[in-house]
Amino acid sequence: MQELICITCPMGCHLSVDTDAQGEMKVTGNRCVRGEQYAREEIFNPRRVVTFTCTAVLPDGSLPGPSSNLPRRVPVRTTAAFPKERIPELLDVLRGITVRLPVARGSVVLERALGMEVNVVVSRSIGA
Ligand code: SF4
Repeated sequence: MQELICITCPMGCHLSVDTDAQGEMKVTGNRCVRGEQYAREEIFNPRRVVTFTCTAVLPDGSLPGPSSNLPRRVPVRTTAAFPKERIPELLDVLRGITVRLPVARGSVVLERALGMEVNVVVSRSIGA
């Protein structure tokens, strides 16, 4: 048996996931059908929204100095939940990305990340 907490809504139902005699997955503890959907996704295809910070560079390609009042890192996030097993690979790619300032919230820093239908975008405007 596996225990999960459904994070689909603030109720946070405690789910128990088991298999019946026929090998069918059985979910209990959910207050609505979305809990069962959540449990299936979490077990067979877990995904997470990924947040990270990329290196910021000035328009001339140099790093922001202490006197520039600009941060050295730019917060980014995926536009949708990303397959959990591929997150380390995604972070490796993001470590190599620099973001030129100024930058607006929502600017795409990585399109179709690792071939998925998910982009990585800037989550806060900086200097824009
Ligand atoms: S099972 Fe339904 S009610 Fe419970 S946390 Fe999930 S979405 Fe909310």
